Amino acid sequence: MSSATILIHSIPVDPLTGAIAVPIYQTSTFVQDAPGINKGYDYARSGNPTRETLENIIAALEKGSTGAAFASGLAAIDAVLKLLQQGDEILAVDDIYGGAFRLFTHIYQKFGINVNYVDTSRAENVFNAITPKTKLIWIETPTNPTLKVSDIRAIAAIAKTGGCLLCVDNTFASPALQQPLILGADIVVHSATKYLGGHSDLIAGIVVTKTKELGEKIKFVQNASGAILSPFDSFLVIRGIETLHLRVKQHCDNAQLVAEFLQSHPDVDRVYYPGLKAHFNHDIAARQSKGFGGVISFTLKDDTEESATAFVTSTQYFKLAESLGGVKSLLCHPAQMTHKSVPAEKRKSAGVADSLIRLSIGLEDAEDLLADLEQAFEKLKISRLSTEVSVAGAQAANSQVSLNQDH
Ligand code: PLP
Repeated sequence: MSSATILIHSIPVDPLTGAIAVPIYQTSTFVQDAPGINKGYDYARSGNPTRETLENIIAALEKGSTGAAFASGLAAIDAVLKLLQQGDEILAVDDIYGGAFRLFTHIYQKFGINVNYVDTSRAENVFNAITPKTKLIWIETPTNPTLKVSDIRAIAAIAKTGGCLLCVDNTFASPALQQPLILGADIVVHSATKYLGGHSDLIAGIVVTKTKELGEKIKFVQNASGAILSPFDSFLVIRGIETLHLRVKQHCDNAQLVAEFLQSHPDVDRVYYPGLKAHFNHDIAARQSKGFGGVISFTLKDDTEESATAFVTSTQYFKLAESLGGVKSLLCHPAQMTHKSVPAEKRKSAGVADSLIRLSIGLEDAEDLLADLEQAFEKLKISRLSTEVSVAGAQAANSQVSLNQDH
């Protein structure tokens, strides 16, 4: 059976009614036959059949033992961090999602959990930075927004030697492309808001653990802290997952064409996309993923915030919005949007330049996306030329004044 068939048929038919769609159990509690005697559920924070179906599907997709669904990607990340103790250290990828940086730095550091950030796209950096206090290695691969790729297998081996857990944020790749648990990671997290949901209509998070033991710890946190995913949103994520493979394939095909277009564009300085041979870790990406994803970042030759702002407000199909992984193409300017909470010098040293623009390639026809980008570049050129003309005009007027004064 192909993975699409396995996926589609891992979504169960309702055993009570035969409903082919997963029912939404919109209930807070479950009637018990006697105290503690029930049909497997007592209170919906602790367990809900719709959420549980999603948790089982995603655990199967990621080849893990246990899945847990949360109210957001950040709530999922937060649950993993709650496995740590005061005095523990996290070793995290430097180009980390801004919200994760904020959570690690501004919430967990005050509880005595320190974070070291390194460029994990070179596995030796992880090896050199690990200390006896490191209890968790945190990578995103590809990263948000500079699409750095880290070698999951190599870092998993380092984590094992160092006696710490490896957690991979698999949001950008999705299990349709990459399964970190097979490569040796202990935990996978997702912002299911992105490719898993796939339609920009919900906020959700997922944790999947390799072992049952770790899964029980996460489930304990999920119940104790309470940031669970609602039954309706669980249903929506399941519905999104049903077409995950198909959507991701199209996102990847479109993104490859857009990345190649950008790479040859005279106004573009750098293109960040693992599917390009020029990408620093293209070979690792090709080895550990079935495709290169739907997110591309690029910088402009004119590396200014003004040019980036002009560009991101000039497109027609690419809508200016945070988030990614939906059917409609989006673009954003990380320095002013997703990565605003990262200090400027830290942001720049992680490669998030002033003009860096991130594209989430949707499911439109690729030629329309290319035409949209081309017309935005044209508008940028016209606004630059008109600025140059007015500057030249002002300079000419000034020199005329000084000539007149010479007389
Ligand atoms: N991880 C990554 C890589 C993300 O890009 C995001 C959000 O953009 C998150 C986690 C947080 O997810 P959420 O917005 O669902 O809380």
